[in-house]
Amino acid sequence: MSQHSVHSPGFDPNCLFCKIAAKQIPSRAVYEDEQVYAFHDISPWAPVHFLIIPKLHIASMAQVGPEHAQLMGHIMTLAPRLATEQGCRPYPDGGFRLIANTGQDGGQEVHHLHLHVIGGPRPWAKG
Ligand code: 5GP
Ligand code: ZN
Repeated sequence: MSQHSVHSPGFDPNCLFCKIAAKQIPSRAVYEDEQVYAFHDISPWAPVHFLIIPKLHIASMAQVGPEHAQLMGHIMTLAPRLATEQGCRPYPDGGFRLIANTGQDGGQEVHHLHLHVIGGPRPWAKG
C-alpha cells in the first residue's frame, strides 16, 4: 500500500502539523472536522492560545489562492466561535488576537499554514 493511500490528499510526511493533524504526534484537541483541526499551542502566550490548521498541507498564507477561499473562510469563521468556547471574554471588553505568521520575515517557524487564536484576561506572557 502506498503512503498516499493511507493519508488525505496533501499530506506531507515530513511536516510536523500534518503529523499532528493525522494524530501521529499527540496534541490537545480543541475542534476537528473534515477540513480542519484546532489544538492547543504547546507553548501558550496567554490563557487561551490555540492553532487552527487546514488538514491539507499548505505551507503558509503565501501559497493561498482563490481555490482556498472556502477553506480560509471556514477557518476565519470558526475562530470567533472557538475563541468564545475556549474562554475568551466577549467583545469589546474581551476579544482575541488572530495571527498568521508567514515566512522568515513574518516569524513563521512551522511551515504548515496555521492561525493562532490568542486571548483571555491579561496580562499575557507575550504580545
Ligand atoms: P509560528 O511561529 O510558526 O507561527 O508558530 C508555531 C507555533 O507552533 C508556536 O507557537 C509553537 O509553540 C507551536 N508548536 C510548535 N511545535 C508544536 C507541537 O509539537 N505541538 C503543539 N501543540 N504546538 C507546537
Ligand atoms: Zn503539513
